[in-house]
Amino acid sequence: MNIPSMPDDLKPVVVNENAHVVLEKRYFQKDEEGLPRENAEQMFWRVASVIAAEEAKYEKSPYADVATLANEFYELMTSYRFLPNSPTLMNAGTRLGQLAACFVLPVGDSMEEIFESVKNAALIHKSGGGTGFSFSRLRQKDAMVGSTGGVASGPLSFLRIFNTATEQVKQGGTRRGANMGILRIDHPDIMEFIAAKERDGELNNFNLSVALTERFMKAVEKNEDYELVAPHTGDVTGTLKARDVFNRLVCKAWESGDPGIIFLDRINRDNPTPAQGDMESTNPCGEQPLLPYEACNLGSINLGLMVREGDEPEIDWDELKRVVHMSVRFLDNVIDASRYPLPEITEKVRTNRKIGLGVMGFADLLFQLRIPYDSQEALILAERVIKFVREQARSASKALAAERSPFPAYAESVFGEQNLGPYRNATTTTVAPTGTLSIIAGCSSGIEPLFALSFTRHVMDGAKLTEVNPHFEKALRDAGAWSENLMKDITRKGSIAKMDHLPAEIRRVFVTAMDIAPEWHLRMQAAFQKYTDNAVSKTVNLPNSATKKDIHDIYWMAYEQGCKGVTVYRDGCKAVQVLYTGEGE
Ligand code: UDP
Repeated sequence: MNIPSMPDDLKPVVVNENAHVVLEKRYFQKDEEGLPRENAEQMFWRVASVIAAEEAKYEKSPYADVATLANEFYELMTSYRFLPNSPTLMNAGTRLGQLAACFVLPVGDSMEEIFESVKNAALIHKSGGGTGFSFSRLRQKDAMVGSTGGVASGPLSFLRIFNTATEQVKQGGTRRGANMGILRIDHPDIMEFIAAKERDGELNNFNLSVALTERFMKAVEKNEDYELVAPHTGDVTGTLKARDVFNRLVCKAWESGDPGIIFLDRINRDNPTPAQGDMESTNPCGEQPLLPYEACNLGSINLGLMVREGDEPEIDWDELKRVVHMSVRFLDNVIDASRYPLPEITEKVRTNRKIGLGVMGFADLLFQLRIPYDSQEALILAERVIKFVREQARSASKALAAERSPFPAYAESVFGEQNLGPYRNATTTTVAPTGTLSIIAGCSSGIEPLFALSFTRHVMDGAKLTEVNPHFEKALRDAGAWSENLMKDITRKGSIAKMDHLPAEIRRVFVTAMDIAPEWHLRMQAAFQKYTDNAVSKTVNLPNSATKKDIHDIYWMAYEQGCKGVTVYRDGCKAVQVLYTGEGE
């Protein structure tokens, strides 16, 4: 493959201080002594050139010259308008070459299959990916084991094995493996699963989510019993009162944030390739439901940079369109450039060619447009933006199908059946958390409100980073309200909600996660989900004083408003958390 060499006159990259720490620690290629052997320009060129090089094999490509495309990709990333997910930045052009963040692996009901899956998960973690699993196919604890005459130890005991295995494998040598563990609500061991993370530190390499069915939710509504079913025989093993189980779920989420919930029927209603079977799990952070052995690469557009400045700042729709089209080409090329750790995954990925383009910097966008996050106007804007991104991403995917051919499973997919016209990708949109990408781009993460206007961030290896939102700082200065003492006060408190001496408009616009009532968090998630092919990563942040009823209401709202799942987090409910208001410790 012809990879264009780095031009001498490449534009230098502006790297913010926090990004520098993260890039140097985890993203730059290292020599044998562990010292970085590339800088930001070389890193971005490595990625841009390798992803652009894939273009050469497509005869109908509008780019006669791969170097031109590499330059465009370089500009796209180094202007921080778009970034691909971390594994692409870390691994493109390296020996590892695994570029996707999200994987789902099957776990079958036999020793061979379980340990095959443990092994495969380790290979994926080693390559930088995160894995999701459904444990719903494993027979329940104490069920008979035919081959030995003994009894089964159940999904929870195996989950612990996956957890321990993960502990020992750093992702691509840079971060600890992330996992999602799912169990269906009608699995006989569901009560044990719900309580599995009640002790701090237990299963700490896993997020857990209970897969709820519509049938179960109806039983909760009508206060009925529902049946537990042995997965390996289909026998009913007992019944439980749906409301009791739901309340238990709420109670544990209140205590520790785990488990979250996913709505399985809804996820499968949006399955673009049902002929290939059901989706039973998502990736670790919940935004990407996938088929077993499927992977997906993500990328995010920085909405904070899609603003046309002026007296009345507004979204630059033409620019957003251009960036979406470039990003879709980029992500489709990533599929070809990536080397997956298992042949089953390579085959699945190449069959469906899913990509997940999403957004970050949404809170920054709202700040610039002076729209409070918790307002009707913000919801309307959210829908408009994500609808536009999806329309444009699909139109880009259609254009690529004409250039390169549709994804191989197109004919058997829902698009083929409905004659919707060929796409290059079975899905195009996902809203990722952008935990690290947002640090690199210096923007607010995903669609989250700011956690605090100024805060301390704990990153890997005990490093601490202090961040002040630049839009907020500018607004304070413009209003003549900025002072060093005020900034110190804000860093301590995180929020300005109670600072009556500040202008009312500033206090209304610059709201933080904790100032926002939980139902607005949820409404925002639902607004984005409405026009997202895959799912939306969002944490409904609650104050420490939130009640179990608050969480109950949020779960119920998520169900009613069409979300594919929901995660709540009550401030201070865990001994160690990633983000702190105030100066932290
Ligand atoms: N992920 C992971 N390990 C991590 C963080 C993320 O495996 O430590 C995976 C996981 O599948 C997650 C996805 O990457 O759902 C996207 O996360 P995020 O957007 O925060 O990643 P970034 O690209 O910003 O590093």
